[in-house]
Amino acid sequence: MAHPTNPPGFLLANLDKVRHWAQTRSMFTVTFGLACCAIEMMATGAGHYDLARFGMEVFRASPRQADLMIVAGRVSQKMAPVLRQVYDQMPEPKWVISMGACASTGGMFNNYALVQGVDQIVPVDIYVPGCPPGPQSLMHGILTLHDKIMSGEIAH
Ligand code: SF4
Repeated sequence: MAHPTNPPGFLLANLDKVRHWAQTRSMFTVTFGLACCAIEMMATGAGHYDLARFGMEVFRASPRQADLMIVAGRVSQKMAPVLRQVYDQMPEPKWVISMGACASTGGMFNNYALVQGVDQIVPVDIYVPGCPPGPQSLMHGILTLHDKIMSGEIAH
């Protein structure tokens, strides 16, 4: 921000704040829809809700170009190592949103075939509740993640 003792046009800013600002305004999401919640995630990126407003125009097909994983839907035991591999291939810094009851807890599927919470596989930064969470809920989760990064609450 401009300081009163500085000449006009001279800006001072905390480098971390600039970095956090840039990170939150250019998040790229890796494509990782697993079940019905993914439909709501896709709707969030479509014209009506317009994630592009937040610099999130494109869902990336490659984890190497992504810094946000939205786990949208239930995670089977068979999918768990794949999910972890995709996460490992994402460059640092990176964040994870667990979208919906199934991803966060297994939801109604309390059985041996499904992971009972994706935080057993990857570190989760934000949990978005609901079955399914609507686009507004997911956007609230994304903006909460932005706030936490900006405040330094989530250190990367
Ligand atoms: S939380 Fe509901 S909508 Fe989402 S994957 Fe599970 S059953 Fe489907």
